[in-house]
Amino acid sequence: MSSPFMHRCLDLARLGAGYVAPNPMVGAVLVHEGKMIGEGWHERWGEAHAEVNCVRSVLPENQHLIPYSTLYCSLEPCFHFGKTPPCVDLILEKKIPHVVIANVDPNPRVAGQSVEKLRAAGVQVETGVMAAEGAWLNRSFFHWINQKRPYVILKWAQSADGFLGHLGVRTAISGPAVQRLVHRWRHESDAILVGTKTAVTDNPKLDARLHGGNNPLRIVFDLEKKISAEYNILDDSIPTWVFGPQRDGIFERTEFFPSVGPLQLTDVLQRLYLTNRATLLVEGGAYILKQFIESGLWNEIRQIESAHTLGGGVPAPALPTGLVLKEQFQLGSDRIRIFTGISGQV
Ligand SMILES: [Zn+2]
Repeated sequence: MSSPFMHRCLDLARLGAGYVAPNPMVGAVLVHEGKMIGEGWHERWGEAHAEVNCVRSVLPENQHLIPYSTLYCSLEPCFHFGKTPPCVDLILEKKIPHVVIANVDPNPRVAGQSVEKLRAAGVQVETGVMAAEGAWLNRSFFHWINQKRPYVILKWAQSADGFLGHLGVRTAISGPAVQRLVHRWRHESDAILVGTKTAVTDNPKLDARLHGGNNPLRIVFDLEKKISAEYNILDDSIPTWVFGPQRDGIFERTEFFPSVGPLQLTDVLQRLYLTNRATLLVEGGAYILKQFIESGLWNEIRQIESAHTLGGGVPAPALPTGLVLKEQFQLGSDRIRIFTGISGQV
């Protein structure tokens, strides 16, 4: 069931992307007789929730309409005292008689309790309106809460003939519009991971400078200490985890995790989960991407395909079978396709 007001909630929620994790993105609108009189979203982690911002946005001359309005929320209002008082109490205090929700909050501290409390107080509550769209928007959060693991996105750019680049040489595959898009994806992620070869060959900064906003945690594997100190990833400018031997020198934002045995991807994911990081973007290279694919520790693939050919080089990973194409679009001469596993894996 589609609803233009819930649609608006989801659009508003998305404005919080990259700023609210590991909280979910949430949008809310207040509607009186078919007209929106307020709207808001959760803008930043630790700050006001969508419902609070929505109620605050109502103009003084419309405030008397609030007890006759419907509140649309993309996620069930919170039930617990966190950084802010529970939104369910705000709804009761403002005497809002009707609440429409896309997704019930899977967080065990909420999990339907707000819906129950509202109904018990006589508020009319509908749930499941545009639930699929809401679950897709907050897929990282839902996965993180339900599976106790970050949502893993594999990303790569390949030539029209299926190569990632020439071996040992930095090869530009995609155009400038895609570069900016990738920086937005970084901003929306909590961590980015690359392997040793990518850190050395491409010497990436792994920040989100072309988009702005937040720089995620950088993670690199360097088990054999092949990345020398002058590479960008060891510049200590952004919080960074290095899975590999400790280095000499003064590091304030860079942590080293020497491993005693072969590195397990599950260890990395567990450490991310325990530090409240809900989304991991894996940017390569070929070996690392293959490791994630073969171990089944991935949720989404973002494949960028250029119109240009390379004629040889490092082959792009083979797409796993049974993928579901969720989105595809063109940016300049590049085509972007977003897949999930067969189950949606949300
Ligand atoms: Zn709340």
